[in-house]
Amino acid sequence: MSDLAINFVYVASALLFILGLKFLSSPATARRGNVLSALGMLLAIAVTLLARDILDYRWIAVAVLAGAIIGALAARLVALTSMPEMVALFNGSGGGASLLVGWSTLYPASDSVFTLVTVALSILIGGVTLTGSIMAWGKLSEVITTRAVVFGLQRLLNSLIVVALVASGVLFVMNPDPTSPAFFALVGFSLLLGVMAVLPIGGADMPVVISLLNSYSGLAACAAGFAINNNILIVAGSLVGASGIILTNIMCKAMNRSLANVLFSGFGAVKVASKVEGEVKPISVDDAFLILEASSAVTFVPGYGMAVAQAQHVVRELGELLEKNGAEVTFAIHPVAGRMPGHMNVLLAEANVPYDQLVELEDINPRMGMIDVAVVIGANDVVNPAAREDEGSPIYGMPIINVDHARTVFVLKRSMASGFSGVDNPLFFGDNTRMLFGDAKESISGLVAQFKS
Ligand code: NDP
Repeated sequence: MSDLAINFVYVASALLFILGLKFLSSPATARRGNVLSALGMLLAIAVTLLARDILDYRWIAVAVLAGAIIGALAARLVALTSMPEMVALFNGSGGGASLLVGWSTLYPASDSVFTLVTVALSILIGGVTLTGSIMAWGKLSEVITTRAVVFGLQRLLNSLIVVALVASGVLFVMNPDPTSPAFFALVGFSLLLGVMAVLPIGGADMPVVISLLNSYSGLAACAAGFAINNNILIVAGSLVGASGIILTNIMCKAMNRSLANVLFSGFGAVKVASKVEGEVKPISVDDAFLILEASSAVTFVPGYGMAVAQAQHVVRELGELLEKNGAEVTFAIHPVAGRMPGHMNVLLAEANVPYDQLVELEDINPRMGMIDVAVVIGANDVVNPAAREDEGSPIYGMPIINVDHARTVFVLKRSMASGFSGVDNPLFFGDNTRMLFGDAKESISGLVAQFKS
């Protein structure tokens, strides 16, 4: 294949990526967006492998088969609640792959300074992304503590690692020998920085970290694209890098953090929230039904617990029954509810909840005083008034859905446990709050049964 033909197919792939991204920006067209982007990637990979005489076809077939088996097993076996962890590992794999691609170009090493700088960058960003994502996976799956891990002189230590990284990168470019100590220092310090950068970040700030690592995985791929002089890798990497940065910005706004604050890991420092005490007022399904039956405006506020309980289908059913009963029904969506950006939108779309019933935080909060019942389904941090009122709280400043301003609040959860950030929630003790303890799916199913009878 001529270079012209290859680049022509690459342009077609790039167009498919861009169209895919466009469609991904709305839940209604997201599936189409995914298919188009995957098609673009298939085209790009096929033409690269066919045209470049890179490897024996048997090796390519083995790799395709291994990848397809892993992908199919992951798609079948990984529960929807574990998707965020899988996304974190995907980001990490992207970073690891870029690190290896950069490394492989050193046999034999180019003598172009530009190429060597891109190799160093693909190793540096790829290494940080790999171990940073593994740490994010650990925090999301709660294998390691979700709290910020901080210790004395941590910032100084992190700064020293950055200085050592830059120094080893410069030495490596001056002497591009993959067996030199400078090269191994570059790889080692990159991997170490990924761990050290994510360690001091608390659970509530993880959405920002995940989107930033997603962006890094794109930047690493882009650097690897320059290192091996492959146009589509540069384009795909730039698109992931840029869309990741846009998402990071959205998440920063949702968490009320500045990007500079994120980049320098200055956030997540340990703060001590005020102790929360008070009287808890539990409610039964029967009594909750009577209140809901008399309500004319109900808003559901889903959170991570709805994903755990897989309650989205019964919630949609309850919404329909309430509407039939004459109530106005809305779903209030917090941008960081759940464990990945857009988590609640995906779940509600899966249950066919009409998009026009979804209301964003900024739009629901001014109307909250007119809501008869706010039904909090497995949400905790995103409705925690401490974020508004307690300056000592680690989540202070994060915009929340002000469910406590509704006339009545039902909180559906299994216990008094705190949310992902580990911060106690004064909402549970509010005068207008009633705790409906139990698995969210069971509680909502009980309400649905009452409405039907
Ligand atoms: P939280 O993690 O704050 O709270 C979830 C609640 O769901 C828990 O308190 C738990 O209480 C309850 N729950 C769990 N299982 C069930 C069940 N079967 N039935 C009923 N309730 C259940 O969730 P939020 O969505 O409010 O907040 C998301 C948090 O995650 C934020 O801190 C956010 O920053 C963070 N995060 C978000 C990411 C994103 O991109 N969206 C990424 C990474 C982190 P109990 O155990 O008592 O039932």
